[in-house]
Amino acid sequence: MTKKDYSKAMYIEKTLDPEDWESMRALGHRILDDMLDYMKTVRQHPWRHAPNKVKARFNQPLPFDPQLPEEIYKEFLEYVLPYPLGNIHPRFWGWVAGTGTIFGAFAEFMAATMNITACGNGAYHSANYVEKQVIDWFKEIFGFPPSASGLLTSGCSAANLIGLAVARNTKAGYDLRKDGINTKLSKMVLYASDEIHSSIQKAVELLGLGSNALRLVPINEYFQIDIKALEKIILEDRKNGYLPFCIVGAAGTTNTGAIDDIEALADICQRENIWLHIDGAFGAWAVLAPGERHLVAGMERADSLAFDLHKWMYMQYEIGCILVRCEEDHRKAFSLTPAYIEHGEGDRGMTGRDLPWLCNYGFQHSRGFRALKAWMSLKEHGTRKYGQLIQQNINQARYLAELVENAPELELAAPVTLNAVCFRYTKKGLDDASLDELNKRIEVELQEQGIAVPSTTTVRNKCVLHVVNTNHRSRREDFDVLVREVIRIGKDLSQPKQNAEKLD
Ligand SMILES: *Cc1c(COP(=O)(O)O)cnc(C)c1O
Repeated sequence: MTKKDYSKAMYIEKTLDPEDWESMRALGHRILDDMLDYMKTVRQHPWRHAPNKVKARFNQPLPFDPQLPEEIYKEFLEYVLPYPLGNIHPRFWGWVAGTGTIFGAFAEFMAATMNITACGNGAYHSANYVEKQVIDWFKEIFGFPPSASGLLTSGCSAANLIGLAVARNTKAGYDLRKDGINTKLSKMVLYASDEIHSSIQKAVELLGLGSNALRLVPINEYFQIDIKALEKIILEDRKNGYLPFCIVGAAGTTNTGAIDDIEALADICQRENIWLHIDGAFGAWAVLAPGERHLVAGMERADSLAFDLHKWMYMQYEIGCILVRCEEDHRKAFSLTPAYIEHGEGDRGMTGRDLPWLCNYGFQHSRGFRALKAWMSLKEHGTRKYGQLIQQNINQARYLAELVENAPELELAAPVTLNAVCFRYTKKGLDDASLDELNKRIEVELQEQGIAVPSTTTVRNKCVLHVVNTNHRSRREDFDVLVREVIRIGKDLSQPKQNAEKLD
């Protein structure tokens, strides 16, 4: 194209907006209806393996020319929607997965329509206010002071990374952002129980501390960090010239839902001048359950608290949050204002300097408008209802534990404090290795037969079925089905195969 062509009237400029808004509107209404129906009847849509013809569909050439939205949607209905992980189904309890809500899905659509990048950009736009409102509510829920800071994240992994970065930089005792960790033999170390989530180790590695710096402390009979052992290791580390800078407490471990003695951890941190970070991914929300608050007592004393909302608060993926008690520590770890976002505070008049730039509190620059679904969902249900649902999930877990204890074929593998139940099928005469194998096969059969989805995990060196209940659609009968079917399949699989021999 020559320079002249640009100004020709015949040269039609393009946009990604529809040429025909009315047909897009019709498609949009259809999608909305389909999705409402789908969620309303979700009990009838379990998980299914994608057959080969479906897999082959995702091996197609790169599209060069446009395709019709109606056709693409048809493809979605045929090749995508029927093969879900299944985690929004009422009998899905594997891998601590969340369940979502329809209003949450609407919120995602609305946020996507506005498509605000919530990195800050002055104080004037609504995403800033919505996020501030939501963070303020979380501070209130978890007993953090109004002066604390917070940031919505993609999940608890990101929240843990941010919390530990603030801890590291604050406790280093030198300008770590400038000098890095290479220039000093600072020997910074931190502590967590050996049941802590893998995202903590990943964060420690990403922060350049090396996984050796993460001292994994043994657990007690309740799967909580052993306080005496922890104190001993800290003492030894100090003697050997290490700098203990952080303790990571678990408010609900992934395996068993165990909650560390957070008051005791807070006491140690206070006495030893150590940062207290709590990984409360889902368990922190026990704070809303009327009968369970005491389990997470002490969480309000943490320097930083990481949690997510896509597991136990039933919100759509992805959303998590980090709260930091001291706003200045938080900001100092991340704030950086390059020329292209330089701003006089309150540039746009009116609102003045009341809202900080959110990109100064984390590593992301462009950020989605996650706050909208949190704000809308919290308003839609209110904390009382959330508390009732969380309590309901805990009660269901206890109900499942009771069923397990009453079944001679089953055994409980860990105490049930919260919403996690670890159990396994047993049979006299089978050794541990065979039982491990058998329980793995039971898991697969339950899933493949479309009955229910627990996952498996290892507890005290045994492979066990793993149910973590963050499902607002589950009913007590669903757990009856699970137990009945585990026993049926367990019996089936451990029966000697007489018929097969006869055929030979
Ligand atoms: C799931 C989980 C995480 C990681 O959170 P994501 O939201 O998946 O990134 C961290 N800690 C615990 C205890 C978890 O269960």
